[in-house]
Amino acid sequence: MQRHYFDHNATTPIDPQVLDAMMPALREVSGNASSIHSFGQDARLLVESARLQAADFLRCEPKEVVFTSGGTESDNLAILGAVRAAAGDRKHVVTTAIEHPAVLQTCGQLEREGVTVDYLPVGPSGVVDIADVSAALRPETVLVSVMHANNELGTIQPIAEIAATAHAVGALFHADAVQSAGKLPLDVDTLGVDLLTISGHKIYAPKGVGALYVRKGVEIESIQFGGRHERARRPGTENVPGIVGLGAACELASQRLAVESARQAALRDRLEQAILSQIANTWVNAAGSPRTPNTTNIGFGGIEGEPLLISLDLKGFAVSSGAACSSGAVEPSHVLLAIGLSREQARSCLRLSIGCGTAAEDVDRFLAVLPAVVERLRALAPAGR
Ligand SMILES: *Cc1c(COP(=O)(O)O)cnc(C)c1O
Repeated sequence: MQRHYFDHNATTPIDPQVLDAMMPALREVSGNASSIHSFGQDARLLVESARLQAADFLRCEPKEVVFTSGGTESDNLAILGAVRAAAGDRKHVVTTAIEHPAVLQTCGQLEREGVTVDYLPVGPSGVVDIADVSAALRPETVLVSVMHANNELGTIQPIAEIAATAHAVGALFHADAVQSAGKLPLDVDTLGVDLLTISGHKIYAPKGVGALYVRKGVEIESIQFGGRHERARRPGTENVPGIVGLGAACELASQRLAVESARQAALRDRLEQAILSQIANTWVNAAGSPRTPNTTNIGFGGIEGEPLLISLDLKGFAVSSGAACSSGAVEPSHVLLAIGLSREQARSCLRLSIGCGTAAEDVDRFLAVLPAVVERLRALAPAGR
């Protein structure tokens, strides 16, 4: 059976060019980048050249890039690190109700440590209102953390405006840019961020590597202990092959961005329009908002996303449902509830996220199969649903 992958927001395959770039770091360069001998120096060279690639990608200085184990760690380091480095009386954080769990649960930990956190609502647009940001800010606000693009909806937040608003009260600003990297231009000065998170495996590099941008002069406390690596901000022997892969993926992303964004947006729009016109009682969440080019989140009234996902998987199509199964139980997505869907509506949504490897034929095959699958599930659904 041919398989088709529509779940690039969950993870991407390693690009062959990224893998090629990594091979010397896996086969030949075996040193510890902290060792003084030539083996160590070879590894150090690879790490520093990847840092240049990441810095080019983010339009920052190499020393502002901290390599981590991924998006989750970068979010933790940014938020815990910035809040813990701040003066003791600044104990207020502002974030949004639609953040990734890596941000939400880190904020939850801060609350247990006595920090007050405000979670800004978003309406059906899935976009934070700048007036809500202003209203939430206080003199003691130490950090505002708002994602650049949402992983479930694709909605793009007005990061530059929010950052400026945060700076006006002296707060730092962090953006989780895991879902915008490679899809939207990233320039830390244009965005006005102090801290910015990216993850390797969302941009065709391997899992288990990421980076945090830390603006020059911004103090963060390390959240792990055991060494002075990464300018004493992230201890631990560097994951040299992973870092090399991340660097190569950053360079590739810059090269491809314009062409791929336009190509994927056209494919996504065609997919969306075909589903809306061919299948009754469907809707696109946050359809009118600015969104990343590869993502659509669609409700299929009267059926549940989970059985739909499983039926599609059996036919070779990988998609994601509007439910988070992280706890084992199927809970409707906090993002879909935050944009005002009922629990039942949230449960009936699918997220389709295409990528660099998605061809027009993948979309055609999907569209050839989907209507009958939906029809069959609707026929099986209990009456009144
Ligand atoms: C995937 C993701 C993360 C977590 O990144 P990992 O590298 O998987 O830890 C954080 N934020 C967003 C928005 C994501 O999509």
